[in-house]
Amino acid sequence: MSDPHALATLLNSVMADAEGAVTPPIVQTSLFTFDNYQDFEDRMAGRTNQAIYTRVQNPTVAAFENLIATAEGGDAAVGFASGMAAISSTLLAFVKPGCRIACIEHVYPDTYRLMERLLRPFGIEITYHSAQEFEDKPELLKGVDIAYLESPSSVVFQPMDLPRVAKHARHHGTLTMIDSSWASPVFQQPLTLGIDIVLHSASKYISGHSDTVAGVVVSSLDHISRIRDLSLPLLGGKLAPFEAFLLTRGLRTLEARMNQHEATANLFVDRLATLPNVRRVNSPGANTVPGLTGRSGLMSVEFDDSVDIPKLSDALSLFRLGVSWGGFESLILPARVGLAQAGEQNSMQKFGVSPNLVRLNIGLENAEDLWADFLTALNQSAT
Ligand SMILES: *Cc1c(COP(=O)(O)O)cnc(C)c1O
Repeated sequence: MSDPHALATLLNSVMADAEGAVTPPIVQTSLFTFDNYQDFEDRMAGRTNQAIYTRVQNPTVAAFENLIATAEGGDAAVGFASGMAAISSTLLAFVKPGCRIACIEHVYPDTYRLMERLLRPFGIEITYHSAQEFEDKPELLKGVDIAYLESPSSVVFQPMDLPRVAKHARHHGTLTMIDSSWASPVFQQPLTLGIDIVLHSASKYISGHSDTVAGVVVSSLDHISRIRDLSLPLLGGKLAPFEAFLLTRGLRTLEARMNQHEATANLFVDRLATLPNVRRVNSPGANTVPGLTGRSGLMSVEFDDSVDIPKLSDALSLFRLGVSWGGFESLILPARVGLAQAGEQNSMQKFGVSPNLVRLNIGLENAEDLWADFLTALNQSAT
């Protein structure tokens, strides 16, 4: 973060309550009754900021939303039941019939399906472009209503010069959205770089413990009001109070966890580069692009044909086989299975991802233990 003390200070102020509790209460209620008729009228007319019904507003959820909004340098936030609920509810609040979306290649596979299976049949035109095209071809945004970005992108982790792309977008009046789950607000704050809307799968680093599925959107008051008026109440994918409590808990250790993920990821990137059977490591580090201040623990490694990937997956013991990421435990996900859905040409196949690619989630276990596990398994599975 630009100010490393901001999040910690903020957390302390939120936690302080009259009875000295250091964590926020979980307000597990669906409705909030009115004091009297006048209060009823005032609240229904939106003249006070008090909650009415948990589908739309809840104090435990609001506590998390205020924290993440500040951490991202935004005005306001809306929590959702999942990252996909945040992504779909945000896109659906801004698309119009016949509008055009320019989307990053290698976008998260379920976002790709949302574009192709849900939005395209409604008459929305979607085109896909690399990070370099977004940077170097400003004219590609001419007539484009929404630029849907990830930096770095999924699986191949291609980073993007966000200030540059934001400038092109402003020139063409294009609304910019970014899925920033990889960096978390600790390593990148896209709103401060000129991007309009930031999305997170909070199931990953923000939760940090592989025990929550949740999402969040951060932006200006205007954009957040639109989402609060339209897709939050009408699609109803709200964040639950208990999940919001877990996310607030996650924020308390986010910076410490990200620093640990980075230290071990740096060790892996340095040592992977010395191995003869590694063709390529995809893992953007601090300052690879403007505004990126750290390397997270999610990376991918492309091996040469000497490595038997099923054998490698089975030989690992600390790295477990699994989807998702961002928690304590280290994971391996071979692209050939994890990203190829049965019978469907998904974004990874369409944009060409090597079958020799594996995604690694570098967790919080001891760094030397993780490297020893990886090297032993690799030696057992390479010919
Ligand atoms: C996991 C993930 C999502 C989807 O989030 P859910 O919380 O699983 O719905 C979106 N984008 C990225 C980059 C992800 O890794």
